[in-house]
Amino acid sequence: MRLVNGGTELSLTSAAVMSKIIMKKLSISLLILLAFSRLCFAIDNPDSPDYVGQFEKNNWHFVFIGVGYSRDENPYQMAKVIELVEKNFEGVDVDFAYIKEPLNLDFNRIDLRVELNSRLEGAALFSKIKTVYPVDSLIIGVNTSDVFGTSARMRITDFSYAILTLSNPSVGLIATHEMGHQLGLSDGYQAYNPPEILPNTELFYLDGMPVSLARALSKLEETPPMYKMGTCNGRKVYTFYETKNNLYGNYSPQEPNSWGDSVFTPLQILIMNDFIARK
Ligand SMILES: [Zn+2]
Repeated sequence: MRLVNGGTELSLTSAAVMSKIIMKKLSISLLILLAFSRLCFAIDNPDSPDYVGQFEKNNWHFVFIGVGYSRDENPYQMAKVIELVEKNFEGVDVDFAYIKEPLNLDFNRIDLRVELNSRLEGAALFSKIKTVYPVDSLIIGVNTSDVFGTSARMRITDFSYAILTLSNPSVGLIATHEMGHQLGLSDGYQAYNPPEILPNTELFYLDGMPVSLARALSKLEETPPMYKMGTCNGRKVYTFYETKNNLYGNYSPQEPNSWGDSVFTPLQILIMNDFIARK
């Protein structure tokens, strides 16, 4: 396994999910400002038809925003992706909502990453939504045939968000993968794992497992299958469960999951619920 330096707060979807990765940069600063007043109006009144979603107080609240859709098609697209991810998050303490009004954002192509042009302005948008809805993560769904997904958190402002394509057959898996990152899951495939953040929730040393993974393991009644994944800094790195069946591994399933139907492994579900309970 090749572990490459370079990821920071961003992580990308599994290479198999995104066989042809095309990354773009979102030039959203000006346009987010332009969209601000309309968006705030749209969610000002939770009883209005401009705002769709329900929530349990202690759950993690995902709010979807569409980019590049017409006002008519946006609610349909948001409801469609929520329907796809809802099934995947069965057993995880999450809620979903969406904002009916689309945003209109511009794109510039770059090589490696999807990134908000101005994260501070994204954070301002997040704070604004938070005044009327208890959003924990903003999911920005983009109307483009290019395949990408990214997940990030701005620690200073607590702004958590994912940006992903919605116009791709794999949208359900891409969205699920990125949303899982928002709930504390890490990647276990070859790139974007700087050694200083290893071990993570998917890759661990025998004598160096992160607390969240150890805690989940202690709650599991059985010991999951363990596989060697390569070396990092000259030390052996391991993972639980078959990497080809793992949405955070080298995802390319050839056989049914050893753990059952869920796209998440039992450990991943425990890690996410633990993460949510500690928010
Ligand atoms: Zn990822």
